[in-house]
Amino acid sequence: MENIMLIGIIPSLKKEPGSLDYFLQPIINELILLSRGFQISPAKKDPVFVKVLLLCASSDIPAARKLAGFMGHAAIKGCSLCTISFQDNSGTAKRFFVHWVENELLTKADFELIGGRISELNVPADIGRLPTNIATNYSQFTADEWKNLVLLYSLFFLQGLLPERHLQMWQKFVLACRELCQPTMRKIRLVIADRLFLQVSRIAEELYGPSFLTPNRHIHGHLKETIECYGSIYGFWAFSFERFNGFLADFPTNKPSVEIQIMRKFQKIGFATEMKHKEFGEFSDFFTEFCREKIDSPKIPTPKLQVASEKPINRQDPLVWTDLSLLQVKQEAYTLVTMSQKERYDLKEMYECLYETSFPGDAIARVAIKYTTVYWNNELYGSVSSSRCKNYKMLMAKWAEDDFKLDPDFGDIRPGKVSHYLMHSTEVNGCIKVHLLAVVEWFKKKNADLGYLHPITVWQKRVQNDGPASYIPIQRILGKCAWTIKKHGVQYSIVVSPLPRHVFS
Ligand SMILES: [Zn+2]
Repeated sequence: MENIMLIGIIPSLKKEPGSLDYFLQPIINELILLSRGFQISPAKKDPVFVKVLLLCASSDIPAARKLAGFMGHAAIKGCSLCTISFQDNSGTAKRFFVHWVENELLTKADFELIGGRISELNVPADIGRLPTNIATNYSQFTADEWKNLVLLYSLFFLQGLLPERHLQMWQKFVLACRELCQPTMRKIRLVIADRLFLQVSRIAEELYGPSFLTPNRHIHGHLKETIECYGSIYGFWAFSFERFNGFLADFPTNKPSVEIQIMRKFQKIGFATEMKHKEFGEFSDFFTEFCREKIDSPKIPTPKLQVASEKPINRQDPLVWTDLSLLQVKQEAYTLVTMSQKERYDLKEMYECLYETSFPGDAIARVAIKYTTVYWNNELYGSVSSSRCKNYKMLMAKWAEDDFKLDPDFGDIRPGKVSHYLMHSTEVNGCIKVHLLAVVEWFKKKNADLGYLHPITVWQKRVQNDGPASYIPIQRILGKCAWTIKKHGVQYSIVVSPLPRHVFS
């Protein structure tokens, strides 16, 4: 924040302006003056003559087009990395949708059904909601909306609408994107994604003709080499700026003159942050209140924490289960609870599995601190007990078997409903260790998949709520999921779509 100067805010207009030149004119005038040079007089030093030159602009491709006059991705020479020419360069997901509509693979009636399905899915509020009338909107979707549509919604709402082969191809595309949209990138993910993209283009060629995906295949090829050079796409996507825009948009303002209010607030926070870093001794706490860090500072998981949710228990460092560095809780929002004999017995069994050693009964604390919501790894996790965060109560983890026995290594990744969270301590090798446990009711697998494709899964609506598997250390949680209840015949099932993980809150 202290390294960013906010030099302007473009108001939201009814129609997107064709050019940003008018808004950029003031800064361009200043940049021209700065480039001619001027004299500054540092304290106790001789005056120096300096010139300020704009070296680079950082943005995503559509913004680069507007800001610096570059070609957009829809241009004939639309590739940012080489000079290849294509006639039509729209994104892969959009290209498929346009084709399906033009060839009536998706009809008007289908889109009505899709709209209904989108509104059915319970999605945490921090994931952007898709407009339900996507038939009229999808051509104007933002990158973020396409990301949500592809990763989270599409396999749910397309189920049963597209012919099987077409849907299978789309599934491969979704899976490839899921592999790539990870906060940390492993080589194996890249290889899997690359192979899936290859299969997608082969099937698309067979279904829609040889040249259908040519530009996209080309861009997918670049993606692999770019990630090999620069790491996870989160590292070089212009998401930090989108996030920054979101941060500005969150400022409470009242009309009119929203821009001026945002600017004032920004200046205040910028000033406070700078003051705090200057370390004004006893006064720096005063500035903290106005600093951005106070509002939210992203927590960075250690490599051990990054794999704690996936790696077999016996191959983890046991210290990981007491590493609460990614946890934020509201200190005042807790209650004290006493654990019953049965609960302590279950906890003992759970700890024994976690640490692969036996615990004496009195090592398990009788009292715990109960929370209804927690922040973990920059994400909000809610529970049944927190009515305001009801869409945040579902999580996914590899922890319980279908018979609800605790089996963290061979069990499926299954959804669970969080009842609440417990800060609970136990004595491990003579030391008191504090754990944060989610108390979870796991769902049981349904025999019929109802035609949904992986990673959408179907579960019995009935949950169980007892035994050692109902306690899971928060480090083991794989992520949250969107969900809905479906009725088939007389039976209800719960359908879940795993959410992509956040990098920042
Ligand atoms: Zn290229």
